[in-house]
Amino acid sequence: MNEVWTIAEQSGGALKAVSFELLARGRQLADKLGVKLASVVLADSISDEALRELIERGADEVLCVEHPALAGFVCETFAKALVALARERTPQVVLAAATSSGRTLMPHIAVTLHAGLTADCTELDIEEGTGLLLQTRPAIGGNIMATIKTPDHKPQMSTVRPKASRPLDRDACRTGSIERIALDPAFVERRVEVLGLERDVEGFENLEEAQVVVAGGRGLKKAENFKLVRELADALGGAVGASREAVDRGWTSYPHQVGLSGKTISPRLYVCAGVSGAIQHLAGIKTAETIVSINSDPEAGIHKLADFAVVGDLFEILPRLTKRIAERRAGVAEGACK
Ligand SMILES: Cc1cc2nc3c(=O)[nH]c(=O)nc-3n(C[C@H](O)[C@H](O)[C@H](O)COP(=O)(O)OP(=O)(O)OC[C@H]3O[C@@H](n4cnc5c(N)ncnc54)[C@H](O)[C@@H]3O)c2cc1C
Repeated sequence: MNEVWTIAEQSGGALKAVSFELLARGRQLADKLGVKLASVVLADSISDEALRELIERGADEVLCVEHPALAGFVCETFAKALVALARERTPQVVLAAATSSGRTLMPHIAVTLHAGLTADCTELDIEEGTGLLLQTRPAIGGNIMATIKTPDHKPQMSTVRPKASRPLDRDACRTGSIERIALDPAFVERRVEVLGLERDVEGFENLEEAQVVVAGGRGLKKAENFKLVRELADALGGAVGASREAVDRGWTSYPHQVGLSGKTISPRLYVCAGVSGAIQHLAGIKTAETIVSINSDPEAGIHKLADFAVVGDLFEILPRLTKRIAERRAGVAEGACK
């Protein structure tokens, strides 16, 4: 029976969290189909220990393609390696992350294999009876959820948003195989040379990795007031998020936008003020652990999803909350020094 594959991502031999999120999705699909789940890794060098984590988090098999040319992402080289492997082993489903490399790589492979591809899926399932992959994603401006099938071509391919699912816990008792495969040197793309990778860290807040996010929406009324959100985020040691309304008005920049056309985040704590809870905003916070909403309208949609709903005026609540938390933190720090 043909396998389900997930394409893992790594950097410098360290697997990225999204590789484990994909395995959680893939595991459900493979179990429904009664087939094996394989995780495919492309790397210049990666330890057995790192690959073993893929098995502990759901894979039955790890296929690791290796070559010094796989140190940095070069779409053509990665695509040729994966196409050759897919032609040889004919997986029925291939999942990759909807990251910039996944979004670049998967269309390339789909075209070469004459397969279908659904980008940015929020839900995946297996259809009863046919065993086809049901690929659900927002469509028509986010107003409907469309479920797409590709019955005539294999593999069925999808990209999945990072942070849209939680990785499975590590299970050291899980067993599986690790196969290392040398890349055919003919696949190395000679026209592209990676000279180096530079990370832009100045003023950068990694919203997707943040444990605490404080977000503001149109209820803040004007740009100057957005500092209330920043102050609370600073007091909590968190990152700043925003609704699209706040971004469109220029109160903060697009990298801070949370939601369907912004980022999907998975913090332990999400506090939002003056955000109504439109479906497109909620799409970005479904996997947040604890949601605190501050909104003066008791009927606001955000209150229904929130774990703690504060009905009130954000201009009164935010400064009080910030002050209390800053005082509490200062008290703890003082206590620690004594
Ligand atoms: C294709 C598409 C993609 C989209 N993508 C996104 C996306 O990624 N992210 C996103 O956020 N939106 C997105 N949207 C827009 C979305 O539909 C909403 O318009 C947007 O989320 C609303 O932003 P908001 O909650 O800040 O504003 P509003 O809906 O205007 O809500 C403002 C809230 O503030 C409250 N309020 C007002 N004054 C106070 C006060 N003094 N104290 C407390 N509360 C107060 C009000 O009660 C109200 O609930 C998208 C839309 C489309 C069509």
